[in-house]
Amino acid sequence: MKTVYACPKCKGALYRQDRCYRCENGHSFDLSKEGYVNLLMGKGSGTHGDNREMLLARQAFLSYGYYRRMADTVSGFLRKFGVLNGECRLLDIGCGEGYYTRIFRDALQEMGAEVYAFDISREAVKLAAKRSGKGEEQVSLSVASAYHMPYLDSSFTIATNLFSPLAPEEVARVLRDGGHFVMVIPEKEHLFGLKSAIYDTPYKNEVMPFDLVGFALVHDERLRYTVTLNHDETIVLFGMTPYAYRTSSVGRERIHSLDTLTTDIDFHILVYKKA
Ligand SMILES: [Zn+2]
Repeated sequence: MKTVYACPKCKGALYRQDRCYRCENGHSFDLSKEGYVNLLMGKGSGTHGDNREMLLARQAFLSYGYYRRMADTVSGFLRKFGVLNGECRLLDIGCGEGYYTRIFRDALQEMGAEVYAFDISREAVKLAAKRSGKGEEQVSLSVASAYHMPYLDSSFTIATNLFSPLAPEEVARVLRDGGHFVMVIPEKEHLFGLKSAIYDTPYKNEVMPFDLVGFALVHDERLRYTVTLNHDETIVLFGMTPYAYRTSSVGRERIHSLDTLTTDIDFHILVYKKA
């Protein structure tokens, strides 16, 4: 029997038996009724990450399709680089409520890919489980931390991380030699129109250097476009960002008074190969 899961307690291989995952040392983790497994260790497991209001706002906003272009561009890279020695196994790191995971799964379906995904927020993984598919196409979901991924070494041919916390050494560990890693980060102008509507003196995003220890950058591209949202969409976008929780009532009133909002969407897509 093969597995990619590692026991979060002893690091041994974790095998699925019916509705449960077990290691040889007798540690076991039940599959939830929604179909995910909680492999997050420590107190308060699964209460980390984004709150439910933010998650639902993000789910609603993503359903409008304004980020679909970015997701499709990433899918193209997954199809190009995902297969290694005839196999394709994807790990989506910090999958949130699963919008992108599902698009990636569909894009890799004809390649017979196995798809795994996790997030530190149990609420997010529950939402992801609702759209994870059935049978062989089902995404294997877990609650876990990006800093202690519950997978065996060299398990995946490709991994993705879209605006999620990143531990490069963990990504390198779970990727096979020659495997690829696709990351998306917000660029300088991302959502600048939204920030300009909230703040008198909006600041641009800081963009970190692209170097990642253990990886070689093989491709990168900036994807930038403008969208115009109606009143309701604007409020939903605002609700999925941290600004909704940091903004003064003046800023919130400004957002609620808008009929439309035109804003930049500005991403950087980076493709790395494990060195
Ligand atoms: Zn164990």
